This record gives sequence, C-alpha cells and structure tokens, in this order.
Amino acid sequence: MKLKNKVAIITGASSGIGRAIAELYAAEGAMIAVADLDETGGTETVDIVREKGGYALFVKTDVSKAREVASMARQAMEKYGRIDILVNNAGIEGKSALTADYPEEDWDRVLAVNLKSVFLCSKYVIPEMFKNCQGAIVNISSIAGMTAFQKAPAYAASKAGIIALTRSMAIEYAPNNIRVNCICPGIIKTPMVERSTKGSLDAERKLIREEPLGRIGKPEEVANAALYLASDDSSYVTGSALVVDGGWTIK
Ligand code: NAD
Repeated sequence: MKLKNKVAIITGASSGIGRAIAELYAAEGAMIAVADLDETGGTETVDIVREKGGYALFVKTDVSKAREVASMARQAMEKYGRIDILVNNAGIEGKSALTADYPEEDWDRVLAVNLKSVFLCSKYVIPEMFKNCQGAIVNISSIAGMTAFQKAPAYAASKAGIIALTRSMAIEYAPNNIRVNCICPGIIKTPMVERSTKGSLDAERKLIREEPLGRIGKPEEVANAALYLASDDSSYVTGSALVVDGGWTIK
C-alpha cells in the first residue's frame, strides 16, 4: 500500500490513462477525486474503484475554467479533509492540421485544456498541500513536447509548456516539500489514440512498426510511472520528465 490514507485528485480520470491511474492509486490505498467533464465515464471510474473496496468521488469539472477548478478543490477538501497528490492528466489532442492552417479557436482550446489547466489546478491545490507540509504533483506531458510531431502545433506546444511549468513549480515548491514531476508517454492505447487511428488496423500496425519495443503502450504502464512519482519511492525526485515511450524518442 504505497499511498495508504493519501488523497489524490486525478483530472481526466473518466477514461484512458487517468482511469488507469485512479484504479492503481486506489488499489494502493489512496482516496480519489475524479475531476472530468465526462460524467458517464467518471461515474464508471468511481464504480470500478468502489467495487474493489476503494474510495472515490466524481466532481464534474472543466479543468480550463478557474471557477470550476476552485470548486473542485473545495469539494475534494470537504469530502476528504486534505489533498496530498494532484495528477494533471486531462487533455485533448486537438485538430490535425499544419500550423498555417490551424484555426485560432482550436489553438486556444488545446492550450487552455492541456496547459492552462495544469496552472489552474496547481494554483488551487498547492495552498491545500501547504497545510500538510508535503505534496506530489504529477503532470502528464507527452513525447510530442520533446520531439517533432507534424500537424499538431497546439498539442506539441502545450505539452512542451507542461515540461517547463513542471520544472518551474518544482524549484518554487521544493522548500515546501512539494515535489513536481511530469511523465512523457509515447503512443498509449486509449480512446485518444483510437480516435486518431480511427480504428484502422493498418494505422495501428504503422505505429507499431515505429516502436522499438514492437508494440503500443498500455495505460497501466503509464499508471505505474505515475505511482512511482506520487509515492515515497521517488522521494528524492523533483522537476523530472520521465519518458514512458517504449524507446520511441531514442530511435
Ligand atoms: P482520453 O481521451 O482517453 O482521456 C482524456 C480525458 O480527459 C477524458 O476523460 C476527457 O473527458 C478528459 N477531458 C478532456 N477535456 C477536459 C476538460 N476540459 N476538463 C476535464 N476533463 C477533460 O486520452 P488519454 O490518452 O487517456 O490521455 C490522457 C493524457 O495523456 C492526456 O493529457 C494526453 O495528452 C496524454 N497523452 C496520451 C498519449 C496517448 O498515446 N494516449 C500519449 C502522450 C500523452
């Protein structure tokens, strides 16, 4: 039980990687707040956790809106009385288009959901972490923030921004015993990737051919990294960007 009696807010936990993190954290003893726009998926995540004897709460939240984020942090505090862990995982892929063709409103939305949300959730949760003199923040970036990806200018910029923000917050809050790290996943089989391959086996095979380990990653493999960064196993790790990509970026 690596997270016994800890309270974790996980954004975007109605689906994919966020749900896998919620399940693993709960299995390791954490009480979970699922913050997501998707009520159906969020309720399913809560049910999965509760069926296995864990504690979870769904708080409908648009993480790009300050008022909703503030209310979400308040509801987690009212329910559990403390917040130890924040996983900033919610994200959208945005449109696929070259930079010159990218619509401004899509750019704004991707940056708001993927990057501004990390700022907002941290802004409202860090003061609660101060009360316990400790905390761990795990931000979900992407290899798209480290390497060159075509036709995803807003996504790539938002994910690179998360790496920079992770480092800034890590240095700011190290004196408060709050560690801040991020994960850069490669291609992970979730609804986000299924939307981009449109269920085509050929598209999936093409991705697999580019993977040194010869397969796409599983959400549970990112969750394992998120457990490491949230638990005392990583007690001397802060400001890091942990790549979980099956070797994609070293090709
Ligand atoms: P997903 O689409 O399965 O899950 C994303 C979740 O975020 C959904 O539950 C969705 O409802 C939620 N969400 C979207 N907009 C929101 C908003 N405004 N407010 C609150 N919640 C919102 O995708 P996933 O693959 O599980 O992605 C999770 C994270 O991992 C994302 O940040 C994504 O960029 C990142 N990532 C994914 C991959 C991959 O290959 N799947 C690779 C690298 C990084």
